[in-house]
Amino acid sequence: MSDYDFDLFVIGGGSGGVRAGRMAAALGKRVAVAEERYMGGTCVNVGCVPKKLFSYAAHYAEEFDDAAGFGWNVGPRTFDWPTLVANKNKEIERLNGIYQRLLDNAGATVFHGHASLVDAHTVKVGDAQHTAERILVATGGWPFVPEFPGSEHAISSNEVFFLERLPERVLVVGGGYIAVEFAGIFNGLGCTTTQAYRGPLFLRGFDDDARTFLADEMRKKGVDLRFDCDVASIEKRVDAYHVTFQSGETLECDLVMYATGRKPLVDGLGLDALGVETNWAGAIVVDDNYRTNVDSIYAIGDVTDRVNLTPVALAEGMALVWHLYRDHERPVDYDYIPSAVFSQPNLATVGYTEAEAGEHFGELVIYRSTFTPLKHTLSGNDEKTLMKLVVDKASDRVVGAHMVGPDAGETIQGLAIAMKAGATKALFDSTIGIHPTSAEEWVTMREPVR
Ligand code: NDP
Repeated sequence: MSDYDFDLFVIGGGSGGVRAGRMAAALGKRVAVAEERYMGGTCVNVGCVPKKLFSYAAHYAEEFDDAAGFGWNVGPRTFDWPTLVANKNKEIERLNGIYQRLLDNAGATVFHGHASLVDAHTVKVGDAQHTAERILVATGGWPFVPEFPGSEHAISSNEVFFLERLPERVLVVGGGYIAVEFAGIFNGLGCTTTQAYRGPLFLRGFDDDARTFLADEMRKKGVDLRFDCDVASIEKRVDAYHVTFQSGETLECDLVMYATGRKPLVDGLGLDALGVETNWAGAIVVDDNYRTNVDSIYAIGDVTDRVNLTPVALAEGMALVWHLYRDHERPVDYDYIPSAVFSQPNLATVGYTEAEAGEHFGELVIYRSTFTPLKHTLSGNDEKTLMKLVVDKASDRVVGAHMVGPDAGETIQGLAIAMKAGATKALFDSTIGIHPTSAEEWVTMREPVR
């Protein structure tokens, strides 16, 4: 046993930090975890979990409409925002408790307070200093809002989950996961919703067909999508925000939400004084084993700004514990990481976009299907579903799958396993479909579109 107070001191009680901390503690290591805000981090408190709950809430609006075609008379509906927020808060408090107990039960020591590095083996929390053989920084990220006249009037995803009232008119700025998800949430909940994105088409980096298809579907549902559109200023007037775009156009709204990316949360950690290397974006630079340039200091998750997804942070936490404390390695496989945007309708993806595949492989074969799901033949809902497969012609391997449609993430998760296993298009074709589902389309796309 080392002379240090702890074997591992984790700064940050989010997805990655808690996972690494409790796994190490379960192996008998003396572990401390410091968290200054809320147990569970962004995902549990102001990210994935409450966002998905809000996304469900928003989708009910359509489901009530859909039900009429099946004979249901759902009558007049009202929506009560405070009920949603209160119920969400209750669930998040329950999860906070679970995270705390996971650490307690594993035998880790939890400190509630801001932690900073004093030296390569010492962490300060409040007035107390603790030594550790190794220190793991897992502090995550923080919303970034650019500065411009009136930017102080914009809220971020940190505040949106606690609004006292649901605004009537909302402007969401940005074209990434969060902006697209919240445009759908506000629109579904009945707000007049505008989404402004500075580029020609949102969700840069996703497959072009999926991006275009989602934009069409969101417009059909009533979101006022404005591309090549950026905000110049926001002015607070008596009863509204007056937004001026760079084009000179203006918009009155009751809430401006910025979702223009997140920055690694390194402020006040004391990294600079210790010489811990960070990159241009402020992200901590690590090697393949999550070690920084200071031997005893490690970092995982969003603070390293690589693949900023909760399941990746969890996997990194596990891989680090295996690397440090077990007799063989279990490295994270960063290939074919699936992800979903909980837009309305959902968009999910795994593998290469058509454009990326064009650069990585030789000739491609593209399969694409757009259709009206069976449910909507009676519901009258004009929402359509898109499924697309990108196949490397030489190997017949399916290297990309993209979907826009209900529960897209649920179906893409399964495909991700097949694709990691190297499934070919011939294997997809020989798989029997489940009838009648939308998912059977994955195994019945016979004619390439190009
Ligand atoms: P993203 O990085 O996904 O998107 C940021 C968006 O803001 C982009 O459209 C970007 O435009 C735009 N932008 C950046 N800077 C400016 C600026 N100065 N002015 C105007 N627009 C700007 O960030 P998010 O905030 O949506 O999400 C943060 C991260 O959280 C994501 O990277 C993702 O990993 C994770 N996340 C994952 C979710 C999921 O898995 N479902 C859900 C939510 C978040 P451009 O494209 O032109 O650069």
